[in-house]
Amino acid sequence: MIKIENVSKWYGPVQVLRDCSVNIDKGDVAVVCGPSGSGKSTLIKTVNGLEPVQKGRITVDGTEVTSPMTNLPRLRSRVGMVFQHFELFPHLDVTENLTLAQVKVLGRSQDEARARGLKMLDRVGLMAHKDKFPGQLSGGQQQRVAIARALSMDPVVMLFDEPTSALDPEMVGEVLDVMVKLAAEGMTMMVVTHEMGFARKVASRVIFIDVGGRILEDCSKDEFFGNPEGRQPRTKEFLGKIL
Ligand code: ADP
Ligand code: MG
Repeated sequence: MIKIENVSKWYGPVQVLRDCSVNIDKGDVAVVCGPSGSGKSTLIKTVNGLEPVQKGRITVDGTEVTSPMTNLPRLRSRVGMVFQHFELFPHLDVTENLTLAQVKVLGRSQDEARARGLKMLDRVGLMAHKDKFPGQLSGGQQQRVAIARALSMDPVVMLFDEPTSALDPEMVGEVLDVMVKLAAEGMTMMVVTHEMGFARKVASRVIFIDVGGRILEDCSKDEFFGNPEGRQPRTKEFLGKIL
């Protein structure tokens, strides 16, 4: 579903991704972890073309993201992305937040978009809040609305970049619960997170990127957590700090 082949990227003279290759199959939940500044956000943004790369090739569901011929807005409409900060439109209520892109990007009618949006809002357990404005919701609720908004676009994959790291601790669980459910329903997901509890529970794969943008580990969850002896020294050091 996502194929990253020998990707390298530089910001000016500084190389931030080094010959990265990753294959994510349909239904995989790939957790990406690594130290701050290692290139996790950059890597995940290359998948929907938000960050161009200088070398290598990226394909999502058969569409080559890195080809100049690709219609990136159309591709992005099929790749759901949820960031650390919720980025809802503050002047629109929840229902309007859910419908806007469906109407503007997918050309759906208001009624169709509303029906789809509310179905997704129900899925994240927030139907009672459909008429509220983002400012009236907690951070955890806003992030769940952001997930519902992404799901309303019928994405083939969902990308998450540290979706819980800006939340107060008591709200982390409700957002992870939604993601666990999504994973159980078979959604293909690439998730940058340091929530190793989540990784242990739902990841099919764990990818570790070291500073400098080099992928040091790409293995099954069982191998990653169950065989510490098989891990790279840098991975052990990192896990020692966050676990
Ligand atoms: P992570 O998400 O793992 O913390 P990032 O992908 O955000 O890492 O950043 C990787 C490296 O690229 C860091 O050294 C960061 O300072 C640098 N970087 C990120 N975005 C930019 C940018 N727009 N311009 C220049 N350097 C950047
Ligand atoms: Mg980041």
